[in-house]
Amino acid sequence: MRRRDPQDPLLLQVLPRGRERESVAGFGDDPLAETSFGTAGVVRKYAGRALLITTGACPVHCRYCFRRAFPYATQLAARDDFEPALRMIAGDTGISEVILSGGDPLSLGNAQLADLIARLARIPALRTLRVHTRFPIMIPERVDDELLALLDSTRLRTVVVVHTNHPAEIDDSVAGALRHLRRVSNALLNQSVLLRDINDNAAALTELSERLFDCGVLPYYLHLLDRVTGAAHFDVTETQGRSLIDALRARLPGYLVPRLVREIPGEPGKTPIT
Ligand SMILES: *Cc1c(COP(=O)(O)O)cnc(C)c1O
Ligand code: SF4
Repeated sequence: MRRRDPQDPLLLQVLPRGRERESVAGFGDDPLAETSFGTAGVVRKYAGRALLITTGACPVHCRYCFRRAFPYATQLAARDDFEPALRMIAGDTGISEVILSGGDPLSLGNAQLADLIARLARIPALRTLRVHTRFPIMIPERVDDELLALLDSTRLRTVVVVHTNHPAEIDDSVAGALRHLRRVSNALLNQSVLLRDINDNAAALTELSERLFDCGVLPYYLHLLDRVTGAAHFDVTETQGRSLIDALRARLPGYLVPRLVREIPGEPGKTPIT
């Protein structure tokens, strides 16, 4: 963050503001209907994939977080030492990929993660372990040798998806953590949220893609905002999103252009906006 700059794009992501208390039509506490798609902390929306709510803890509180009102107290896969969640996954051979989410799964300690990954690896139908995390960006020291060894040694194919919205989030220590993760994962990807006054311009998004690629990360998704209560002031329209993607296509190689998507509950996957 730049000192004395109230418009700093990193500050704006975490600064609580009075406008969050406005109630806006179309915005609610469970915009993705996750409570109706989940039991025992396992959210199942898409074929082949199950998402685990491993913890409610995060290294940062993004003010636009779509799980800001998530009922972690009752919807946590970590309950009863992950037993019900793991039983559910093992009982459905259609699940080939497990996504560790939360909160941020790297809030768990290495010992607990090692145990969880070992138990997942014993499920024969599972082929892929995915980790959705913002730790490498917020607290890059979390990417320590033990964690890297864990990801490196599992029989599962590993995908790490980080969450970065602006190139200024990637300083040298973040870049170092990302380069380490690149060595131990089958794929290292980034997802961003399109946020008003933060990254809703082609220059910032272009530089973000370039900076990520410097660190071995490919852009994956650019999400239109999930309409959670208190986040309406971050919303960017679909039309604006489309024209930003057009601008990126004109500047960048195809592999550095993220997919613009919206999450619509009930759809078979994220919905592409084209
Ligand atoms: C986004 C999401 C996934 C992953 O979707 P991909 O398109 O494979 O990245 C899986 N499960 C849930 C519940 C999700 O919200
Ligand atoms: S890192 Fe992700 S889960 Fe955590 S507060 Fe930010 S958006 Fe929410």
